Amino acid sequence: MEPQHSAHSDLAPHTVYGPVPSRRYGVTLGINLLPLAEKFCTFRCTYCQLGPERHHHVPHEFPDVAILEREVTVALAGKPAIDALVVSGNGEPTLHPQLAEALATLARLRDAHLPGRAIVLLTAGTELHRPEVREALRHVDEVAVKLDAGTQAVFAQLDMPWQPLQLDTLTAGAALLPEVAVQTILVRGRVDNTTPVEVAAWLARIQQIRPKRVDLYTLDRKPIDRALEMVPQAVAREIAAQVEALGIACRVFAGL
Ligand code: SF4
Repeated sequence: MEPQHSAHSDLAPHTVYGPVPSRRYGVTLGINLLPLAEKFCTFRCTYCQLGPERHHHVPHEFPDVAILEREVTVALAGKPAIDALVVSGNGEPTLHPQLAEALATLARLRDAHLPGRAIVLLTAGTELHRPEVREALRHVDEVAVKLDAGTQAVFAQLDMPWQPLQLDTLTAGAALLPEVAVQTILVRGRVDNTTPVEVAAWLARIQQIRPKRVDLYTLDRKPIDRALEMVPQAVAREIAAQVEALGIACRVFAGL
């Protein structure tokens, strides 16, 4: 996911954290459904600002739903000036074992304290083939799924899933979600997802998913993988025009 943390390489320090400024969602309150002291994700994106995972094993303790409820209640009772609640945190949020209960609790507390604010969940998309995960996601207002590649080769180099995963499976899972948004980081250097071949393959997947919107963004600071390079804003805008030509809205968040 695009990290929602304020400091370089920082893990989310709490289950609820922020406010955090987000290029895409304004001022946000971060919700971390993962352990505090470690990253746990299905991907190892080369640009991830959380840093590497030290050990890839299922954590012993995910945040308990009762603890989540208590912390969110305290945070929202103060009526913070936020635009959205963003479920992201220290890895892949859909791995939480009580995902439906956690998201339903979040939605209930949002309705009680800050009605009208959106709940957004950022996901690598690796669990979307599971019906129970898709069912749990109906409690959030926007699911933004990562789609960084058009071809399996670039997907493997850029997102580096821990388990063998076909990009076709991820694409098919995302296509099953109604009103999904897609988020794509554009990079060059050691891996390049902006070549004509790669963009054409990626556009075919966008057509298959038919998202309500695509968000393109570029690196906003030097990544941990120093062999990655920034993509010029003009390139991002040219790719966005190709998305819009499909009748799909596309936003660009690019610095150069
Ligand atoms: S999907 Fe996982 S590895 Fe990739 S950027 Fe997000 S948290 Fe980091």
